[in-house]
This record gives sequence, C-alpha cells and structure tokens, in this order.
Amino acid sequence: MKSHKESIMNKAKAYSAASATSPLALDTVQRRDTTESDVQIEILYCGICHSDLHTVRDEWNSVMPTTYPCVPGHEIVGRVIEVGKAVTEYSPGDVVGVGCLVDSDQSCPACLENVEQFCPDSTFTYNSPDKHLGGVTYGGYSESIVVDEKFVLKVPGNLNLARVAPLLCAGITTYSPLRRWGDINGKKVGVVGLGGLGHMGVKFAKAFGAHTVVFTTTPGKKDDALRLGADEVIISSDSEQMKAHAGSFDYILNTVSADHDVNVYLGMLGMDSTMTMVGAPEAPLAVSAFALIFGRKNLNGSLIGGIKETQEMLDFCGEHNITSDVEVIPIQTVNEAYERLLQSEVKYRFSIDMASLKEE
Ligand code: NAP
Ligand code: ZN
Repeated sequence: MKSHKESIMNKAKAYSAASATSPLALDTVQRRDTTESDVQIEILYCGICHSDLHTVRDEWNSVMPTTYPCVPGHEIVGRVIEVGKAVTEYSPGDVVGVGCLVDSDQSCPACLENVEQFCPDSTFTYNSPDKHLGGVTYGGYSESIVVDEKFVLKVPGNLNLARVAPLLCAGITTYSPLRRWGDINGKKVGVVGLGGLGHMGVKFAKAFGAHTVVFTTTPGKKDDALRLGADEVIISSDSEQMKAHAGSFDYILNTVSADHDVNVYLGMLGMDSTMTMVGAPEAPLAVSAFALIFGRKNLNGSLIGGIKETQEMLDFCGEHNITSDVEVIPIQTVNEAYERLLQSEVKYRFSIDMASLKEE
C-alpha cells in the first residue's frame, strides 16, 4: 500500500477540459507509481494536434466519445526522471518521446505485425480506459507522464526538442502512409491541407523524392508551401488550376480536418491511383461512386503508425534533419491557440513549452 504522502507525490499539474464546451484550465491528475517496466517522464514540450481539439469538444462522439475531465496531448517530448527496475532501454536523463499509444496487448496479430494502433486492446495516450488507475488516460498537457518502456521512443540528439514534439503524431501519421505507398520517388504526390499534418506530409514526400503538390484553401500559404519543399501549389478554390491538374496524380494524402468535397480530389487522381484519408472530419463525407468507378480509383485511410515505424521515422528525421515548423507557446494561451487552429492560421504546429506550467 502506498502512503498518502507518496500518492500525493504522483499528482501532476495538467490542463484539462471539464466538458465539451469548457475551456482548458489548470487541474491536477493522478499518475501511477512507476512499475517495473515503466518510465516516468518530465514533459518538456507537447504539440497541439487537431485531434486534441476534436476530442476536447467531443466532435468524435459517435466513434470515440470523450470522458471528462479530458487532458489532451499526444505529441510529447520529455526527459526521463525515473525508470522501473526491469527497464533496459532508458535511464534517467534520457530525452524521449511519447506519441498516441501507451499500451497494447503485445500478442494479437496487429501487435505481432508492429501495428499496435490496430490492436483491439490498445490504450491511447488520452481518453482511453486506464488499465492501471481506472478511469481514462490523461495526455501530455501536463508536467509528467508514466509510460511502459515499450511505448517510449528515442529522440535523436541533433534535433530541436520543441520542433520534435509534433513528429510523434503529425510526423508518423504522414510518414507511414507515404512509406506504405511504396517508392514515390519521381511520382506526382498531392497533399491536401497545409496544417500540422500537411506540412509534415510535404517534408516527407519531398524527402522521399516525390514531385510534391500542395492543395490549399488559403492563398497566403503559397510561399510557405514552396519554402517547405512543395514543387507546386494549387489554390483549391481556383477551378482553372484544378482543371489543369485533373487526373494527373499518382497518390494524394488528404489531411483536411473539416467537411469538404472529397470527390474533387478523387478527380485529381490518375487511373488506379489512391487517396488516403488521414484527416478525420466530424461528420461522414459524401463519396460519389462515380468518382471511384471512372478510373478504378481507391480511397482508403491510415491511422498514425506502430511503435517500430515511429522510431524509424524519428531516426529518419535525425538523419535528414527534419522537424516541424512550430510556434512555441505557454500553456496559458492554449484556448486562443485552439481558436487559431480552427481558423487554419497555425504555422504550422503549436508546441507548448511545458516550463510554463511550473508558473501556475
Ligand atoms: P490542422 O493543423 O488544423 O490542419 C488542417 C488543415 O486542413 C488546415 O490547415 C487547412 O489547410 C485545411 N482545412 C481546414 N478546414 C478546411 C475546410 N473546411 N476545407 C478544406 N480544407 C480545410 O489539423 P491537423 O492537426 O493537421 O489534423 C488534420 C486532421 O487529421 C484532423 O482531422 C485530425 O484529427 C486528423 N488526424 C488524424 C490522424 C490519423 O492517424 N489519421 C492523426 C492526427 C490527426 P489549408 O489552409 O491549407 O487549406
Ligand atoms: Zn494527433
């Protein structure tokens, strides 16, 4: 039995939402004691993913309803402060990452294939049943977290940590489908939406040698898109530009967070080509069968990536010096940041400096 004093020591400051309509505000959450296989991490930076906003506002209620209080955050970079005695890979002082997953059964076909995100018993970093403490898991808008070492990632030493945090979700979510679609070197690849995921998609598509084209609804992002590595930029509201590229893409990665006409982008694909949805708008999208039938086109989806591939992605980023373009913010401005995220105004990911939580 833990004494009362020891339990109190495992309390962590965090920002939580009390309901779908409440702003995020200072709270305290219980973290578990560090078990044999656990790593306790002091969080240094946490990215703001649009999934955090969808979850906090319960926009995915029909698929994954939100339990309150909700502490979001699954783009975590921090420093190890304590390890359990069976931990072999990490020591106090190491700089590590945690993404969207913190547990899985390790024995189902998905886990055996290193795609733990599809394990029927996986635990997501927040808003997932907590097997240790009951209730739900609490994410990275917090000063610390305790995670099984199998779900802790090694962060390359040469990268800026505020810019690394978004790799743990936006990075792997775009890296994984682009890799899965095979050798895209020299292929014409589209990225729809230049936000957190989209700007990482551009960096990876370019690094993999694709002729990379951004579709954006925001004309003011054109120069940034080119600077980030795009070869061409299409303003999606310009029907002449859209017409000129119709039927010409080998692959499209769709990162849009809101309702939009996917048929328009299916029309951009060449024969037998594929569009992958990683964006997860609240409401179902209307897909015209004709947009798929003519040209025998494919529409599919992709969910983050497994732990092995996430480590591979981080190592790739270390080798190629790839990080996210971030605006570092104190946690006290997180609610304003959400409003700017909704306005597609972020360039291109908010990264919360968790030192700001110490001031509370
Ligand atoms: P984000 O930073 O807000 O970027 C989304 C971008 O979509 C915006 O910057 C904007 O780009 C475009 N957009 C927004 N509203 C639009 C509209 N009404 N019509 C057309 N385009 C619009 O969001 P994010 O963090 O990258 O996340 C994107 C989506 O992916 C979210 O739904 C998120 O939940 C989901 N997600 C999925 C996974 C997964 O595993 N599948 C993982 C993480 C996130 P422009 O200004 O360039 O048009
Ligand atoms: Zn995310």
